[in-house]
Amino acid sequence: MGDSLFVDKNGVVYCTSFEDGRIEKILLKKTGDIVFVCEECESTWTDPESIFMKNDFIGFMDYIESIGLIERGKAPDWDNIISNLGYVYINDVKDFVDKHGVEIVRV
Ligand SMILES: [Zn+2]
Repeated sequence: MGDSLFVDKNGVVYCTSFEDGRIEKILLKKTGDIVFVCEECESTWTDPESIFMKNDFIGFMDYIESIGLIERGKAPDWDNIISNLGYVYINDVKDFVDKHGVEIVRV
């Protein structure tokens, strides 16, 4: 990522890895954790601040496999694994934008 954050006209935050898609909040039902996932490249951040840290992301499938939510070679039962809570908005991450001095770019 650079030192800027792309935000669409509705205030939805774009992926900081590749700016290729918007970031969604995904609830992991078995753990109750919420992770932050790009809708396009599936870059995944486990907390909202790490969205602003260089290279602090992992692929979604690798991540949920690493914590035992899916098994390689088995078809995931997505309805029991995740729930999509909608997009991440600029107001959700405003504290971290300020803390890291990120420039907001409206697209
Ligand atoms: Zn992405």
